[in-house]
Amino acid sequence: MAVSKTHPAEAIAAAAAAGQRVFGENRVQEAAAKFPGLRERVPDLRLHLIGALQTNKAAEAVRIADVIESLDRPRLADAIARAAEAAGRLPGLLVQVNIGEEAQKAGVAPGEADAFIEACRERFGDALLGLMAIPPAEGDPAPLFARLAAIAARHGLRHLSMGMSGDFEAAIAAGATEIRVGSAIFGAR
Ligand SMILES: *Cc1c(COP(=O)(O)O)cnc(C)c1O
Repeated sequence: MAVSKTHPAEAIAAAAAAGQRVFGENRVQEAAAKFPGLRERVPDLRLHLIGALQTNKAAEAVRIADVIESLDRPRLADAIARAAEAAGRLPGLLVQVNIGEEAQKAGVAPGEADAFIEACRERFGDALLGLMAIPPAEGDPAPLFARLAAIAARHGLRHLSMGMSGDFEAAIAAGATEIRVGSAIFGAR
């Protein structure tokens, strides 16, 4: 995934012209401003939302996203379910796990992940694709990537979104099926 947050539509169009199809944005409003026009030019482009999602943005997120990667709490699951019913469309969903147990970071706590994943699977079925995590900026991410992979494996979830510009090699080694690369593609933000 090419993470295009803060970059203009023209930069995304250039990446699409080079063959890139999956893009990540962390703000619903920014994505909603940039992507409808891009989709007209590149119909098979795919948009993943990767930022912390407020419940009052769930309806817009459900309308525009192909995948929402930041499902991390029951109230957001409620809002997504309601919005999906109203919109008649349900994006793919990833449960975000706060794999480094950082106080300031979004994501379900690892100790609560099993129960939350089960509840999401009951509710969303096959739309629940897998897990996403952002490890702490400091320290070796490899054990945390392995921990995320282990949680996914025991739930039979195949999609693992982990790894960014600075740590994608370690994420791939640990089994990432999707890496989220921003600055290494588009330059500094
Ligand atoms: C911004 C962002 C990225 C990309 O980070 P880079 O270090 O620029 O590759 C990946 N994942 C999430 C959730 C992000 O917010």
